[in-house]
Amino acid sequence: MTKPNWFDTRIENALLEHQSPDDEQGYFVYQLDALKSHLEQLQQQEVIKLWFAVKANPLSKIIQTLDSANFNFDVASTGELAQVLAQGISPDRILNTGPAKSKKQLTDFVKLGVQTFVVESLNQLTWLNEVIVEQASTEPSLAKKPTVLLRVQLQWPEGEKNPLGGNSLTPFGLSVEEWQNVQVSDYPNLDICGLHIFQWGNMLSNEKMYSLWSQMVAPLTSLAADIGMELKILDLGGGLGIDYLDEGKQLSWQQVINDLADIKVQSGVEELWLELGRFAVAECGYYVVPVVDRKMNYAQEQLVLAAGINHLIRPAITEQPFPVTLLRNSNAPSQAFDLHGPLCTSLDKLGHLPLPNDVAVDDKLVFGYCGAYGFTESMPFFLCHQLAAEYVFQAGALVEIRPAQPATSYLA
Ligand SMILES: *Cc1c(COP(=O)(O)O)cnc(C)c1O
Repeated sequence: MTKPNWFDTRIENALLEHQSPDDEQGYFVYQLDALKSHLEQLQQQEVIKLWFAVKANPLSKIIQTLDSANFNFDVASTGELAQVLAQGISPDRILNTGPAKSKKQLTDFVKLGVQTFVVESLNQLTWLNEVIVEQASTEPSLAKKPTVLLRVQLQWPEGEKNPLGGNSLTPFGLSVEEWQNVQVSDYPNLDICGLHIFQWGNMLSNEKMYSLWSQMVAPLTSLAADIGMELKILDLGGGLGIDYLDEGKQLSWQQVINDLADIKVQSGVEELWLELGRFAVAECGYYVVPVVDRKMNYAQEQLVLAAGINHLIRPAITEQPFPVTLLRNSNAPSQAFDLHGPLCTSLDKLGHLPLPNDVAVDDKLVFGYCGAYGFTESMPFFLCHQLAAEYVFQAGALVEIRPAQPATSYLA
């Protein structure tokens, strides 16, 4: 069987040689050299300012690699902020998104030096303004006017073609109508100079993305005019896709740049921002897990793996499996297996995927595109299994960053 194109064969020997009793319930590996060259390629342009959406993968080494490729950081919680600051990143390279910013959290972020906020409600706007006023009276040196972007959630009127597909309501940002209650001049302590919009996911077509982005320009620029904002920054979030299902669809980064250069002109902004998650880091990551059992059940071949959604929940909540390959070589013909994990719930399924039909107990499987939405998105505590180890592969060697942890490490 030839290795799939998502598998970087430079890591193959290290994975084959890696024998650790601690990792018999599955572990993650991130190929940092590949990540670094991918990120450098993303930075070969002057159209877009790039941020990394930390939720995709908050591992220290991943953040450090993004830092060295001059990415900035989008954090959505106090924990993510602490992790990014702990890597020595200056707070002026951090922006804060998220629907649950309390006044307390905004105060903490301002005190820690964060100066860029994507505001998602009228309360957040009022609170941030108050925080800056309060800072000015206690610690004038910290009372810099933060850069503020208002997060907009668009819907299209009934009957009109909706570029987003559905009109499902989320807590991310506010409608144009709600934002029209604001006048920028009412918030003298904030530099409200941008709009943020992001309500699509895993897009795999340049044409579709461009069409989506272009249809945002008119409603956004007219909102800015209505509320007295000079629109300097447009942040289009993330959503650039990964071809998990191997459908032969891939976004062209060069086309994204050309399209966004156009959007920049159309919207008249000085800066265009993207906060990349999966498009930045998915490809560098792998998840390796042993096969514990194989059985035939109602004419379906099933493999039971040492771990499933306790380490990788994404397939169960999106119905998009991560692609898989057998770690050793095999010339046996492929057939489709149901891949299950150890949890006592039918949710614990990583996919229905082809593997060589000689796959056997104790073989190891490697899942691809696990650099994003893997370790921290999962549900590791259910049924008291082990927390997965995380390794990086750098300069030809595996280095352990987080050791596997038994259930005794978190049970009380
Ligand atoms: C999750 C998220 C992203 C990244 O999304 P991807 O689809 O992984 O690129 C960017 N911006 C915000 C505000 C997010 O919540």
